[in-house]
Amino acid sequence: MSLRIGFGVDFHQLVEGRELWIGGVKLKHHKGALGHSDADVLLHAICDAMLGAACLGDIGVHFPDTSTEFKNIDSKILLKKTFEFITDANYKIVNIDTALCLELPKIKPYIPEMQKIISEILNIKISDVSIKATTTEKMGFIGREEGLAAYATILLENIN
Ligand SMILES: [Zn+2]
Repeated sequence: MSLRIGFGVDFHQLVEGRELWIGGVKLKHHKGALGHSDADVLLHAICDAMLGAACLGDIGVHFPDTSTEFKNIDSKILLKKTFEFITDANYKIVNIDTALCLELPKIKPYIPEMQKIISEILNIKISDVSIKATTTEKMGFIGREEGLAAYATILLENIN
């Protein structure tokens, strides 16, 4: 059995006048994430982890932010496309572990819905998608609520 680990990280600014999409879920908050797409920091980190594990480059290579095709795109579509890349390369997902880092809003109530959405797109069990959340204890740009970050690790199995 051939296993490969992948890691992804993503950051976005938090600004007034944008929707806040995290893990495929729209959160209630007075600020949203700034980006070319819907700026879903968690789904982007997972995409990068998947691409990294398969050594297929990164999200910017496949979905350039200069392309009008991806302007304001739902990141669930990017996640689905990325899943197709790794499926085509004969990988299946063993499990995903993630950590969100932001001050507000509180993520915990949204985690089950995020897990459900992600597991359905990636055809894995809900228990194969771990989502954790933390703050920076008010320190730095995340502590000042100027931005948020997501980290993701993934294990892929080659099914050749
Ligand atoms: Zn992003």
